Amino acid sequence: MKNPEAQQDVSVSQGIRMMFYMMKPNETSFQTLEEVPDYVKKATPFFISLMLLELVVSWIRKGKPPGHLDDALTSISAGVLSQLPRLLSRSIELTSYIYVWQNYRLIVLPWDSPWTWYLTFLGVDLGYYWFHRLAHEVNIMWAAHQTHHSSEDYNLSTALRQSVFQIYTSWIFYCPLALFIPPSVYAVHLQFNLLYQFWIHTQLIDNLGPLELILNTPSHHRVHHGRNRYCIDKNYGGTLIIWDRIFGTFKAENEKVVYGLTHPINTFEPFKVQFHHLIYIWTKFWATPGCFNKLSVIFKGPGWGPGKPRLGLSEEIPEVTGNEVPFSSPVSQVLKIYTVVQFSLMLAFYEETFADKTVLSQFKLLLRICFIILTLTSIGFLLDERSKGAILETFRCSLFLMLSRFGHLKPFLPSFSFSLEIFFSICIAFWGMKTMKLLVSKHWR
Ligand SMILES: [Zn+2]
Ligand SMILES: [Zn+2]
Repeated sequence: MKNPEAQQDVSVSQGIRMMFYMMKPNETSFQTLEEVPDYVKKATPFFISLMLLELVVSWIRKGKPPGHLDDALTSISAGVLSQLPRLLSRSIELTSYIYVWQNYRLIVLPWDSPWTWYLTFLGVDLGYYWFHRLAHEVNIMWAAHQTHHSSEDYNLSTALRQSVFQIYTSWIFYCPLALFIPPSVYAVHLQFNLLYQFWIHTQLIDNLGPLELILNTPSHHRVHHGRNRYCIDKNYGGTLIIWDRIFGTFKAENEKVVYGLTHPINTFEPFKVQFHHLIYIWTKFWATPGCFNKLSVIFKGPGWGPGKPRLGLSEEIPEVTGNEVPFSSPVSQVLKIYTVVQFSLMLAFYEETFADKTVLSQFKLLLRICFIILTLTSIGFLLDERSKGAILETFRCSLFLMLSRFGHLKPFLPSFSFSLEIFFSICIAFWGMKTMKLLVSKHWR
């Protein structure tokens, strides 16, 4: 029998509570997986509202925004990229779980019992702890997870900087739960565990007193994002910090945290943000002699090298001074505003594609995915001031106009379609002229 108190729609009060894992078992227990709402998708307005709130509070308290525009765009861009596979199929975290549940379950815990709900909360969080720890300690898993750590700012937008292929390394850590917990209960907690981790990405909340003993808080997670030596490989918890305290990886925040990778990547290109470490592993794999050493490059820590301990040497981690300046785009403010406009249009298009995914054909869905990827790449090229950005943007704007003319992008913002076509025509003329100038000067980068 269905749970009469569980709903598909999320009210404002529920939306706020779900961002802090404060939902009650009776309102979030479902008999079947199909009934479980897409809480992560429904959280979009709350992501935006909280980011705007952080911006306002930061202006009032510090007189400046909580980070840089180019960095925030790159973080949201990674968030969009990581969600695109969901347009085509169910996530591997769910398909693998369902497979284990259908073929190997040992007992069936009742889906509507609060005990099952709380046990799943603990189980998913423990699974997350071990996934996250190995994502830092195993180089091939780090290749995916490093995307999340590549921002040199630390604000709510950083939470959205997610990897496209991390999910292919995390699913296995939740499979043991499928031996006894129904998929519908697991699917709820998998989403809440992710959503909880949004609000802790802020520098505006200092210390939460006794809550710091149990919960993962902004202070604990700031340490996790630090590249100071004392921060490396610490505080892996998702919702609870108790796992770090139990397994010996806890560190409290003390000296000023400098954020980002120990070797910053200094780029806003989405593909480099996602894949640069994979390329690094590939190069290091072939440059390292011996079969065992080659395997160690893949499966030991990112700092490992022949003759070093499994997780590398802490003295090789570059020291920080606290005066580091985050990498920022050299382009003009006008161009930055242009990228924000194009990014916002893409977000509206992305939202609409998700809303229509069940009625769109596979061809149109793929076309839209390609256009979103092209837009994000072009924005990255422009922010990195690569001259090829001009030609890519000319091509992208022309493609938009063509797809719009042939009806493949309709009904994307139908009331603005004419104004949009005019806007994109102006963009084509501008970027086309820039491309011509560059062709003449042959100044490519
Ligand atoms: Zn991490
Ligand atoms: Zn984080």
